[in-house]
Amino acid sequence: MAELRKDPVSGNWCVVGYTILKSTSVGICPFCPGNENLTPPTIKDIKNEDGTWAVRCFPASNPIFIIEAGEGKRAEGIYDKMGNVGAHEIVVENPVHSKTMSSFTENDYSLLIELYKDRIADLKKDKRFKYILIFKNHGELAGSYIFHPHSHVLATPIIPQRIELELYHSMIHYQKKERCLFCDIVSQEMRQNKRIVSVNNNFIAFCPFASRFPFEVWIMPRSHSAHFEKLSGEDVKTEFISIMSGIMKRIERLTNAYSIVIHTSPNVLTFQGHSDDLLIDDYFHWHIEILPRYLRSSKYKREDEFYVVPTTPEESAGMLRSERV
Ligand SMILES: [Zn+2]
Ligand SMILES: [Zn+2]
Ligand SMILES: [Zn+2]
Repeated sequence: MAELRKDPVSGNWCVVGYTILKSTSVGICPFCPGNENLTPPTIKDIKNEDGTWAVRCFPASNPIFIIEAGEGKRAEGIYDKMGNVGAHEIVVENPVHSKTMSSFTENDYSLLIELYKDRIADLKKDKRFKYILIFKNHGELAGSYIFHPHSHVLATPIIPQRIELELYHSMIHYQKKERCLFCDIVSQEMRQNKRIVSVNNNFIAFCPFASRFPFEVWIMPRSHSAHFEKLSGEDVKTEFISIMSGIMKRIERLTNAYSIVIHTSPNVLTFQGHSDDLLIDDYFHWHIEILPRYLRSSKYKREDEFYVVPTTPEESAGMLRSERV
């Protein structure tokens, strides 16, 4: 039984005891049209004019977070733990098995964005979920072993640590300067013009000042906006698609493995360390992080948000103890 445990030293929550299942249908892609019976039933799809699906979302068959997970927060001595309550959905981004983001058409992107917006808005209705995280891993180096273009939607009972850090630092900046940190970053990048990859009226794509990976790129709206799921207006959407698809064409020329993560506002009005006289909507600013992967990382390691560990520390200790030395 998987559960969430908090590391009292770093404050980070980890999912422990999650069993990674090996795919049983070797050689058959469960995400290709015609194989829908190999996945759980559709939650939401958007159809083409001929009635076939263009994008499709369904519950993960081996979810990291589950709706029915029992108990809430509880203690074990000084330690905190809780059930892995939440949701884990898979979005198949395109019916074509071999397409990658660099070859998506404007319409492909448009439908995918609509599906993402729908899932975020829908899952945010459940107040048990503090955060809705959308990410994709592409390529084996990024930990993805199904080639068919797909992404993950996680609804989590905690705010992932990387997001909490971003919330905290943007809140401190706002307290001091009464300005959004991300808006300030956008202005400085525009002014310095040293790290910009591309820019249009509404969006900027740049390599962040303290990049964690070579060719790391962040895409941000140039004017203040806290919620990705509120991305609207045909012109704005067209500009977003144009900058995103341009970046993905460049990224895929340089690397064949990357992760993409959407950082939108959390599903709560406060977080640990939040100052009551401020609003998250005022100081948080949505963005997309594109993280090329060069080193082998384990399949379920999400180092930026939280760790998912198949073996519990108790099992690990037992296994280590039983090794003869
Ligand atoms: Zn496929
Ligand atoms: Zn802003
Ligand atoms: Zn971020």
